[in-house]
Amino acid sequence: MDLSLVIPLLNEEESIPELHAWIGRVLLPTKWTYEILFIDDGSQDGSWKVIQRLEQEDKRVKGIRFQRNYGKSAALNTGFALVTGDVVITMDADLQDNPEEIPEMVNMIREQHYDLVSGWKKKRLDPTLTKNLPSKFYNWTVRLMSGIPLHDFNCGLKAFRLDVVRSIEVYGDMHRYIPVLAKWAGYHKIGEKVVQHQERKYGISKFGIERFIRGPLDLMSVIFISKFGKRPMHLFGPLGVLFFIIGFLILAWLSYQKLVVLEYGIADRPIFYFGILALIVGTQLFMTGFLAELISRSADNRNEYLIKDRVGC
Ligand code: UDP
Ligand code: MG
Repeated sequence: MDLSLVIPLLNEEESIPELHAWIGRVLLPTKWTYEILFIDDGSQDGSWKVIQRLEQEDKRVKGIRFQRNYGKSAALNTGFALVTGDVVITMDADLQDNPEEIPEMVNMIREQHYDLVSGWKKKRLDPTLTKNLPSKFYNWTVRLMSGIPLHDFNCGLKAFRLDVVRSIEVYGDMHRYIPVLAKWAGYHKIGEKVVQHQERKYGISKFGIERFIRGPLDLMSVIFISKFGKRPMHLFGPLGVLFFIIGFLILAWLSYQKLVVLEYGIADRPIFYFGILALIVGTQLFMTGFLAELISRSADNRNEYLIKDRVGC
């Protein structure tokens, strides 16, 4: 199979048939063999019926239906595990991502050997205040923290080589950070293509203000897990030791003052409390590191070591 399309959707019944027809028109001249996997993320409308109908008409269409709404990341992750095309495309179902971009993105993977090509909605057709401005700030932050020079991390339209999607685990709301996940998985050739963006034709956006809270928290998780997920002690250990030493030195010095210099009123000094606090915080951090280490060792580590190559089996 040359190409797999993974399309997560939540209540997009009006858009799906149009999107399917449009993809068909675009891919017809390429002669590529392809599959379209729709992941119905717990839609309440007739989306699943539409997918069932399309599957009857076109054998390249496949569908997964979630029991409930698990989120776009879960949908993508499930799709990534099931598709088999050499190149994998993700796109939104709401007709905001333009299928005409697909052939060139696929060629960037096939001929220019990119691991991942991310769409860039250079001229974005969404509400300016609620979407475009926050997204500029967000992209700037992620660019700075990840060192990946992309303009638009969270574009739904992306192309991957199959092994890239198989190597990353998208959960929570991590779909916003897929290029970061790919980079941490060892894929550094990340490209960008300016893509046409459409205004939403039917329905409404599925992401409300909760993304302002979840987005930054997930970014911290991405950074923490990708850097220290397998070795939490390396983060908590030094911090804990540092605080412990500071606290210990302060209290040792105060004890000396009290016991040897025979000074009074030691307990009235602010630094006395700071010393105690630092000692406790230090111990806590160290213990947190130990616990995190224990948890990460006993957790299901199926994805811990990725095998790049094999011979003879
Ligand atoms: N989506 C999904 N599950 C969710 C939320 C969204 O599968 O919980 C799908 C949605 O149907 C669409 C894509 O993810 O195909 C992008 O969502 P949306 O268009 O609402 O995001 P926006 O373009 O407003 O950022
Ligand atoms: Mg949209």
